Amino acid sequence: MATGGGWAPARSVERHGAPPPRGGGGGGTRSKSVAPGPRRPSPSPARSRPAPDNGGSSDSCRVRVSVRLRPKNSEDLAHGSDFDSCVELQPESKRLKLKKNNWSCESYKFDEVFSENASQKRVYEVVAKPVVESVLEGYNGTVMAYGQTGTGKTYTVGQLGKDDPSERGIMVRALEHILSSMSFETDRVAISYLQLYLESVQDLLAPEKTNIPIVEDAKTGDVSLPGAAVVEIKDLEHVFHLLQIGEANRHAANTKMNTESSRSHAILIIHLQRSSRIKEENSSLSNDTHNIFPDDLPLVLKSKLLIVDLAGSERIDKSGSEGHMIEEAKFINLSLTSLGKCINALAENSPHIPTRDSKLTRILRDSFGGTARTSLVVTIGPSSRHYSETSSTIMFGQRAMKVVNTIKLKEEADYEILYKKMEREVDQLTSEMERQQKLIKSEKMQLDKKFKESERSFHDLRMTSNMRIENLEKEKCQLESTVKTLMRDLEEEKGQKNLLSEQIAELEKLLNKNKQQQLENLSRTKILTDTTKEHEKEMEELLRQLQEERHCSSSLKDRMSVLQQELCDAQSSAQESMARELEKKLTKVTEELTSQVQSLKEKISELISEKEVIYEELKSTQEKVQQEMWQRQGLEDQILRLERSTSDNYAEESKTSYGMVRSGSGLGNAAFVSKSGKIREALSGQRGTISKIFEEVGLPNVLALLKSEDLDVQIHAVKVVANLAAEDINQERIVEEGGLDALLSVLETSENTTIHRVTAGAVANLAMNGSNQGVIMNKGGARLLANVSSKTEDPQTLRMVAGAIANLCGNEKLHLMLKQDGGIKALLGMVRSGHADVIAQIARGIANFAKCESRVISQGHRKGRSLLIEDGVLTWMVANSTRFSASTRRHIELAFCHLAQNEDNTCDIIASGGIKELLRISRESPRDDTRNLAKKALDSNPAFLREIQ
Ligand code: ADP
Ligand code: MG
Repeated sequence: MATGGGWAPARSVERHGAPPPRGGGGGGTRSKSVAPGPRRPSPSPARSRPAPDNGGSSDSCRVRVSVRLRPKNSEDLAHGSDFDSCVELQPESKRLKLKKNNWSCESYKFDEVFSENASQKRVYEVVAKPVVESVLEGYNGTVMAYGQTGTGKTYTVGQLGKDDPSERGIMVRALEHILSSMSFETDRVAISYLQLYLESVQDLLAPEKTNIPIVEDAKTGDVSLPGAAVVEIKDLEHVFHLLQIGEANRHAANTKMNTESSRSHAILIIHLQRSSRIKEENSSLSNDTHNIFPDDLPLVLKSKLLIVDLAGSERIDKSGSEGHMIEEAKFINLSLTSLGKCINALAENSPHIPTRDSKLTRILRDSFGGTARTSLVVTIGPSSRHYSETSSTIMFGQRAMKVVNTIKLKEEADYEILYKKMEREVDQLTSEMERQQKLIKSEKMQLDKKFKESERSFHDLRMTSNMRIENLEKEKCQLESTVKTLMRDLEEEKGQKNLLSEQIAELEKLLNKNKQQQLENLSRTKILTDTTKEHEKEMEELLRQLQEERHCSSSLKDRMSVLQQELCDAQSSAQESMARELEKKLTKVTEELTSQVQSLKEKISELISEKEVIYEELKSTQEKVQQEMWQRQGLEDQILRLERSTSDNYAEESKTSYGMVRSGSGLGNAAFVSKSGKIREALSGQRGTISKIFEEVGLPNVLALLKSEDLDVQIHAVKVVANLAAEDINQERIVEEGGLDALLSVLETSENTTIHRVTAGAVANLAMNGSNQGVIMNKGGARLLANVSSKTEDPQTLRMVAGAIANLCGNEKLHLMLKQDGGIKALLGMVRSGHADVIAQIARGIANFAKCESRVISQGHRKGRSLLIEDGVLTWMVANSTRFSASTRRHIELAFCHLAQNEDNTCDIIASGGIKELLRISRESPRDDTRNLAKKALDSNPAFLREIQ
C-alpha cells in the first residue's frame, strides 16, 4: 500500500487484486479447501515465491484466528453472581465453550485461545510474530483485533507499554521485531497511521489530512492512500513518539467530532522495503524483463503489515452513542458490517465479494481473500451480560477462519537503484555522446581546414606545375637549339676530322711511298754494293792477271836476257842470222807484251775510275737514304702530332712543346723514343744496364772516366753520364759531383764528333733542371755550345746543342747572359742545317724564350724590346713561320704572338711585315690560345689597328 509522503518511489506493479476463484459450490468446507485456483500470470517484473505455510499448502494460507479472553474488570466483578462467566476455555484443545444458559452450551475450535492470564508477549508470538516474519520475508501481512468495545482490542494491539515492556501490544512489538531484524544500510521501514471514521480516512500523524482517498491501481489492483503521511522510522523511541502522536490525534479528533474512539478504526500501516539480489537461475522474471534488466538485477522486497484496531463490534444501539441519528449510526457501522459480509461471502465461497462496499473492506482487500498472511484476534469479555455480543464475535472469528488467502512474495526490481544506475549510464552515455559530437565537430573542422589547405596547395601546385611546364618547354626549346648548334659543330668537327684523316691518309701514303723508295734505294744500294764487290773482284782478278802478266813479263825478260846471252853466245859463235831472227822475234814479243801491259794498265785505270764513280754513286745514295729517313722521321712526327691533336681534340700541347728537351736532348732518336715501343724498350734496357754500371762503379768513378785517354772509354763514359743525366734524381747530383765541369771540359777539348754529340746531349739533359741552368750558364756552357754548333754540321749534334740551348731559354733570369754569350745567335744559326728535328728544337727554344720574356715584361720586371729581335729571330720567324712542320709552326706562331704582346716590339714587328703574319695567325692558327693571343695583340695595340686599316 503506498503512500503520499516521499518514500518508496518504486511501485509494485504486481497485484493479485482479486481473491482466488473458489471452487464452484460442492460440499467441502472452505477451511479445508486450501488449493487455490489458477492464478493470473504476473504482468510485471515482480515475482512471487511460494511462502512457507504454517499448516496449509505452500502458497495458500488460511486466516488464523485466536480468541483472547479479557480478565474480569471492575464492572464484571460488580455484577457479581448475577452474570456468571459464559465462557469456558479449553486451551489444550484450543477450544472455547460458550454457555448460553445452564443447559445450552456450544464449543468452538480456534487456532489459539488465550485465557485472561495470557501475557502480551505470548499473544504477540502466537498471533503476530508469524505474520511479522512473513512480512520480513517480503509478503504482505495483516494483524487485526475484532471484538466488543472494552474487551481489550486496543490493549492487545495498541498498548504502548513504554515504561513496562511486558505490557507492550502488537504494534510496538511488531515494529520492535522489524527494527531488530532489518539492516538499516539496505532496508527501510516507515509507517502511516490512519483512522477510519464515518467512511472518512484521517491521518493520525498529520491530522490536517482528512478524507484521504483510497486509490486502486486499475492494472494491478494494488490499493494505496497516496495522501497519507509515510514516516520512516529508525528506532523504538521514534515508534513510541509517533504512536503517541497518533493516539493523541485520535483522541483529539474524537473529542472534536464528539465521538468515541470505540467507533473508529485505527490502522497502522508498516511499509517495509528490503533489498535482495536474486541470481538468474532463481529468477522467474519474464524474458522481456531479462532483456531490460542486468543479470544481477537489483531487486527489492516490498511488503506491508497492516495492524488494525477495529471499532467495537457491538450493535449501535448498545454503544451508548445515542446522540447520533440512526442513519448516521448505520454509516458508522458500515465498514464493520461490510467486513462481516465480505468474510461471509469468502467463507461461503460466494462468487461476489462486496469489497467495494466500504472503505475498510477496500483497505483490507488484500487481507481477506488476497495475498496477505492474515491473523485475527477476537477479544471477548467473560460476562454473560454480553453473551449475544460475545457469541457474534465468536461467530465472526469462526467464519474468518474459513477464509483462505494466497500469499505472494512482493518482489520487484529496485527501480530507484535501477533508475539511478540508468540515470548514471544515461549521463555517461550523454557525456560520451557529447564528447563524440565535439570530437566529430573538431574532426570535421580539422578536415575542413585540411581540405581547404589541400585545395590551396593543389592550386599552388597546379600553378607551379604550369610554370614549371612553361620553363621546361622554354628549356626544351633552348636545348633543341643548343642540340642543333652542337650538331652543326659536330658536323663541322666531323668535316675537320675527315680532312685530318684525309691528310693523315695522304701522309701515310707519302710515307709508304717514301718507304718504298727507301726500299728501292736500299735494294739499289745493295745492287751497287754487289756491283762494287764484283768490280772489286774483277779488279782483284785484273790485278792478279797483271801480277801474272808482270810475272810472265819478268820471266819473259829473264828469257830474253837468256836469249840475248844465247845471242851473244851465238854471235860469238857467229850465228848472226839466227840472232837477228831471234832479235826480231824478241822485239816482236816485247812489243806484244808492252802492248799487253799497256792495255792492262788502261783497263786497271778504267776500273779504278769506274770504282770511284760507283763509290760516288754509293755515297750519294747513302746520303739520299739518310735524307729520306729524316724526312720519314719528320713525317712520322707530324703524323703522331696530328693523331694526338685529332684524338685529344687539340688538347694542350704546349707543355710538351715548351718543356725541357727531355727525350729529345738525351741519347737516341727523340721522335722514336716517344713513338717506338721497341726503341723505348731498348732504351730502358740500356738505361737499366747503365744504372747497374753506375751502381757498381759509383758516380765519381764514372766521372773520372770522362778524362780517359782512350777515346772509346771516354765515349762510353759520356754516354753513361748522359743517360744518368736523363733521370731527374741524378741531375743535381751529377753537377754537384763535378760532372758538369768534366762534360764542359770534354766539349771544349775534344775534336770528336761523337763526343760532341753525346756530351751536348748530356748537357741538354742537365739543363732540364732549373737550378742546374744557372750553373751551366755561369760555367760558360752557352758559349761552349755555341762554339760546338759553329764547328759541326752533324744534325744529331746540332739537335742536341739546340735542345740544350732551348732548355736554357726557359729560364728568364738567364736570358740576358744567354744572349751575351751568343746562345741566341747560335740557336738561330743552326737553322742552316735545314734538319726538321734541329729546327723543331730551335722553334721550341724561341717559344720558351718569348713566352718567359713576355711573362717577365707583363709582370713589369723588365722593359724594352725583346732580346730576340737583335739577333734576327723576329725576321726569321716572320719569313719562315709557314715553312715547317705543324708543331714547329705552332711554336713559331706562339713565340711570335708573345712578342706581339710587348708594345716595345711594335715597330720591329711592323717593320718586319709581322702584321700580316699576326692577322694570319689570328685567323688560321689551329690552336685557340694562339689565335686568341694574336687577336688580343691586334685588338690591344692601336699601332697594329692603324696598320691594318
Ligand atoms: P477496547 O479497546 O476493546 O474497547 P480496551 O482495550 O480499551 O477495550 O480495554 C478496556 C479495559 O480493559 C482497559 O482498561 C484495559 O486495560 C482492560 N483490559 C482489557 N484487556 C485486558 C487484559 N487482557 N488484561 C488486563 N486488562 C485488560
Ligand atoms: Mg479500544
